[in-house]
Amino acid sequence: MAGEPQDDCLFCKIVGGQIPATIIRETDTTVAFRDINPQAPTHILVIPKAHYANAAELAAAEPQIAADVLRESQAVADEEHLDSYRIVFNTGAGAGQTVFHAHAHILGGRGLQWPPG
Ligand code: 5GP
Ligand code: ZN
Repeated sequence: MAGEPQDDCLFCKIVGGQIPATIIRETDTTVAFRDINPQAPTHILVIPKAHYANAAELAAAEPQIAADVLRESQAVADEEHLDSYRIVFNTGAGAGQTVFHAHAHILGGRGLQWPPG
């Protein structure tokens, strides 16, 4: 069913505690943890606990939780003392998405090029 945990999903396993992660914030609907392969001095992932393949599917099915992910992104930035930061939702393999459970990358702590690669 939509939103239910998927047995073969890495991030559902992090939500369920079956795979460890450096969790820095948690709410009823979201978890924020450090990316295992950071691309910036601060690189944190904010994910919904519910399983949706990407941000757009999350927003279509659960707009309130999509808003929770954005609110938590700012909370992470505040905790990490980031004045400027970038939120990235890679969507589709061609854009670099490798984990098909919606997640916001929060990147900061260095200059960020625009446009991104
Ligand atoms: P995507 O490429 O799908 O946009 O982002 C997936 C992100 O998950 C990547 O930045 C990757 O480094 C991160 N990642 C993959 N496996 C793990 C893991 O087991 N633990 C953590 N904390 N991050 C992971
Ligand atoms: Zn999942």
